[in-house]
Amino acid sequence: MKNASLIKAVENFGSPLYVYDGNQMMENYKQFTNAFKVNKLKVHYACKALNNQSVLKLFKSLGAGLDCVSIEEVHLGLHAGYNSDDILFTPNNISTEEYEQAISLGVKINVDNLYTLEYLGINHPELPIYIRINPHLMAGGNQNISVGHIDSKFGISIHQVPNIERIVKKLNINVMGVHVHTGSDILDADIFIKAAELVFSVVEKFDTVTHIDFGSGFKVAYKPDDLHTNISSFGKKFSKSFNEFCERQGKEYTLEFEPGKYMVSNAGYFIAKANLIKQTTSCTFIGLDTGFNHFIRPMFYNAYHHIENLTNPKGEKKVYNVVGYVCETDSFASDRIVPEVRKNDLILFKNAGAYCSTMASNYNSRPRPAEVMILDGKAHLIRRRETIEDLLSTQVEAEIEF
Ligand SMILES: *Cc1c(COP(=O)(O)O)cnc(C)c1O
Repeated sequence: MKNASLIKAVENFGSPLYVYDGNQMMENYKQFTNAFKVNKLKVHYACKALNNQSVLKLFKSLGAGLDCVSIEEVHLGLHAGYNSDDILFTPNNISTEEYEQAISLGVKINVDNLYTLEYLGINHPELPIYIRINPHLMAGGNQNISVGHIDSKFGISIHQVPNIERIVKKLNINVMGVHVHTGSDILDADIFIKAAELVFSVVEKFDTVTHIDFGSGFKVAYKPDDLHTNISSFGKKFSKSFNEFCERQGKEYTLEFEPGKYMVSNAGYFIAKANLIKQTTSCTFIGLDTGFNHFIRPMFYNAYHHIENLTNPKGEKKVYNVVGYVCETDSFASDRIVPEVRKNDLILFKNAGAYCSTMASNYNSRPRPAEVMILDGKAHLIRRRETIEDLLSTQVEAEIEF
């Protein structure tokens, strides 16, 4: 994405702003699907990463299904035109009523606890379901996003498979899919293949299974020299192990994944304006017209996001602490080297496609930013900036005498 396009987007739609490169999303999807050499492949885009209707429609046009973790995400998917049987519902700790709503909408249900397995078996005996297994593999660098390890709340423990078998047999449940999602930031193909072997051992126990879903966890580069999942070499290795399993079973399973971050992270840019440059006794702060309310990953996950000065890229390099305007600790980066920042310069954060806009809040009563998608060189507004009216719209004027 050219700096000029990003600057122009801010001129047209204001700051702070999320800008998405639609062509990069297409490229990511193609790279991902081309990496796997199997007969049947299905990718469900994990829409919690970035849930804008235009993004959902873009992935639908490429042939993707949708991975949804809440009934509201299911509704967003249906609204974007996805067929219900292209939507995989993979929630955690939801109510029985929410499962019922999802069933009545016709989406594929991924069960992640024994209670629900029994409940569905008794109340919806014909319903094909997926079962989410927790293989207890610790993967990824950040505790918060590693969901396969022993203490994780996700999935049914691999050690409880005998219990699953018992329930499935008794209630004659149609297990169409086995699912595993070991969490984000997996770098190592061997961990995936290890998990795969455990999953295969579960699949073998159920004749009805036709789909094997390996979730996601593909690591993308946040720093320029970061290690990331090499998708083509991973795909090659993994396809081999998958094809061997199919051959061994004499059956053609559908291989499924549900990437979020890989599809959109590097296609997103967050741009904010420098309101103030402030020297203190210890450092120089750049104060932006935004904060962790709009862009929480640095504060929440201690995530690194690469920063550039869009409007003074050739300026003399300086060391800055880049901070927001929220009235508490609100830091995007410390001791970061950036070309000299002047008042009103536009500051660019990279890798702002996944888990950025969708995690934004109204804290400090700030309206959330607009979103723009640039496709084939043309900028489209895909979410308008919120207003003070939006902030007030859910509040009810109660008849209270104060
Ligand atoms: C969040 C999530 C994903 C996507 O993970 P990424 O790391 O963004 O690719 C996939 N599957 C499930 C079940 C998830 O909850």
